Amino acid sequence: MKSLNLKERLAQQQAAQLYRRPVCLESPQGVQIRIQGREYLSFASNDYLGLANHPDVVAALQQGAATWGVGGGAAHLVTGHLLPHQQLEEALAHWTGRERALLFSSGYQANLAVISALLGSGDTLLHDRLNHASLLDAGRLSGARFSRYLHNDMDSLSTRLSRARGNTLIATDGVFSMDGDLAPLPDICRLAQQQDAWVMVDDAHGLGVLGKTGAGSLELFNLSSQEVPVLMGTLGKALGTSGAFIAGSHELIEALIQFARPYIYSTSSSPALACATLESLRIVQKEHWRRQHLQQLIALFRQGAQTLGLQLMPSTTAIQPILIGDSAQAMRLAQQLQEHDLWITAIRPPTVPNSSARLRITLSAAHSTAHIERLLETLANILPKEQE
Ligand code: PMP
Repeated sequence: MKSLNLKERLAQQQAAQLYRRPVCLESPQGVQIRIQGREYLSFASNDYLGLANHPDVVAALQQGAATWGVGGGAAHLVTGHLLPHQQLEEALAHWTGRERALLFSSGYQANLAVISALLGSGDTLLHDRLNHASLLDAGRLSGARFSRYLHNDMDSLSTRLSRARGNTLIATDGVFSMDGDLAPLPDICRLAQQQDAWVMVDDAHGLGVLGKTGAGSLELFNLSSQEVPVLMGTLGKALGTSGAFIAGSHELIEALIQFARPYIYSTSSSPALACATLESLRIVQKEHWRRQHLQQLIALFRQGAQTLGLQLMPSTTAIQPILIGDSAQAMRLAQQLQEHDLWITAIRPPTVPNSSARLRITLSAAHSTAHIERLLETLANILPKEQE
């Protein structure tokens, strides 16, 4: 049999110190996790509101499975669109202030679906340089010309907009996943309007966390469906379940149903999961204290980290990375934190730009102020020693 060079490629990955392995949690997701029999305080999930293991969400999943079964059983356009899917789409549209919403099994799939359905060769896709990998891959799949503007740099975007051909879509994360900062959405929308371009916001990390009702970056900046015609939200982060949706006009959703191949040719997600997400959405909308508590923890952490002289990013969100720079040093620090029973992920290139390895600390409404104090104390113990 002809070799596919897997052995060589794996060896190269290892030699470049880029080899990755999933860690296996022996506990539910949460702030207290168990890995290889050891308990850790975790600052490493995207469960920003502490809903992934919330008893009411678990009960809704159980009840949903008892009523609707486990499997969707078919693609949405065949017989896989069940009443809980329909109810969840309507609830998500209502929450985000859009006419309609359409469910997907993951955010990666939703991004591939919407961009490949909207754009083709002859069109232009403009990306922030730090956009999520799924948006970049979606651009490749669409066949559109694409160009990356400098991160949050409106001059760079404006130059690229003036050179754009065909239908033009500007795609940006609402909250950048590895930095935690916000996109300047009102400025992006203004430029888009001047050049007759569309804006798409991937709000995976803003949804649930930002805005008065948690409806995310667009609620925070009060941006309408005209200003941001395409919203992508994920359900596996603040909402604590999994899956994603696109929200927008009736026409946009109808176009996706007709043209988005990742939607058309994929089995719907579990109807029981839709029941669970409906419950978590109810909690997100009702329990404002989760967002308020999270904001207090963010302020407490930033204040403490600044006092320690740590290099923070300009983030007001639950993602609070500490910039380290060197990949090996970031890995070493993550290891030392583990020795102190803290679990924090070191993020290295190619996920982030070269020489910008970091400890990606994420905070959750399920953390307490004592957890943040313990984190700061441990960082204070470890970091000066590392820099000596
Ligand atoms: N967009 C962003 C900004 C993300 O951070 C992620 C998940 N890491 C995705 C899209 C993909 O979403 P999912 O995990 O649901 O596939």
